[in-house]
Amino acid sequence: PAYFDHNATTPLHPAARQAWLQASEHHWHNASSLYREAGLTSQALEAAREQLADLIGVEPERVLFTSGASEANNTLFSGLARCLPPDACVAISAIEHPSVREAARAWLGRGRVIEIPVDAHGVVQPEALAAIVQREAPALVSVITASNESGVLQPWQALRGVCREAGVSFHTDATQWLGKLAAEELGTCAYLTGSAHKFGGPKGVGFLVMAHEEESFPLLHGGPQENNRRAGTENYPAIAAMVAALEAVSEQQPGASVQQAGFRDAFLLQMKAAFPGLRVISEEAPRLWNTALMVMPRHDNLKWLTRLTRRGFAISTGSACSSGKEGSSVIVQALGASWEELKRVVRISSGWDTSAEDWQALTEAFIEVGHELDAGGRPQ
Ligand code: PMP
Repeated sequence: PAYFDHNATTPLHPAARQAWLQASEHHWHNASSLYREAGLTSQALEAAREQLADLIGVEPERVLFTSGASEANNTLFSGLARCLPPDACVAISAIEHPSVREAARAWLGRGRVIEIPVDAHGVVQPEALAAIVQREAPALVSVITASNESGVLQPWQALRGVCREAGVSFHTDATQWLGKLAAEELGTCAYLTGSAHKFGGPKGVGFLVMAHEEESFPLLHGGPQENNRRAGTENYPAIAAMVAALEAVSEQQPGASVQQAGFRDAFLLQMKAAFPGLRVISEEAPRLWNTALMVMPRHDNLKWLTRLTRRGFAISTGSACSSGKEGSSVIVQALGASWEELKRVVRISSGWDTSAEDWQALTEAFIEVGHELDAGGRPQ
């Protein structure tokens, strides 16, 4: 019953479902075709682009629709690989999602990707970035807005400021920020990545905001769609659903996130009392209101996860992208944790409608599972 893995993906928002159905019924035509209905689909697509652009504060021409955040990040780095001189480098934070880290390395080559360290709380300090920008003169800096693992928030406005002063482009993967915190200001970044399924939209749709409307570095070749920036028939129903979802969650009152953070913090207090030695990653840094990344004091994370699953709770052992690989938490590694600690990492991530009762039930289930595991793993 209780879903605590919203950072992996979210259920479809009713507004998104409605928008998808409506678009599929009325605007299923190929936007590139020449008859009237196709023209209407094309118009609807451009209206969706304008609506999204409005929500994130950018010019619509800068928005490129993609199949999600992974494609958006790959589009960016593959384009840079083609545009930049061979000796140019990029700087990315030590806690990027693999779709930034691995894409940058794959497209540009490992030697051209410099890592920006995080401090003991998992935060990139503007001074640390300034030093790297001065020393290495990267062509682009990429820092994740909010971590998918710990929820730690980066001071991206200040980091963007450092880049602006030095004339360096700034990209942020805002996949986890969008739909949880205010989005209007994000468009001030040169490049921006988002993905619908993290904020109540469908899977397989997202976007990249580009620095300039005339910029063109397609990842997919073979068609003039998206102003020659991405080949393939536009998935208008998914795009319409994404925009409807972002609009719907953007209307959440800021007070709701304060209340949700309160539930999460009360949960952590109870957990720390029940499990002395439990560590909360980036506890002292600003974090997303929905996320708690914990290092349990004992027992491997898969043991916790399987027993909580049996009790009807969906949780995670770090990020879903690396699940199955116990202890592959990028952020905990960046903070210098031991292998033993990595194996005890558990991630909880709630959603807008997670209730105080859901959190309480999760606390109780953790305590029950803790007793069970301490007793040697036999169900009690
Ligand atoms: N970036 C971040 C920060 C993410 O959390 C995710 C999803 N785990 C992605 C990128 C990849 O998103 P998508 O599933 O849309 O490719």
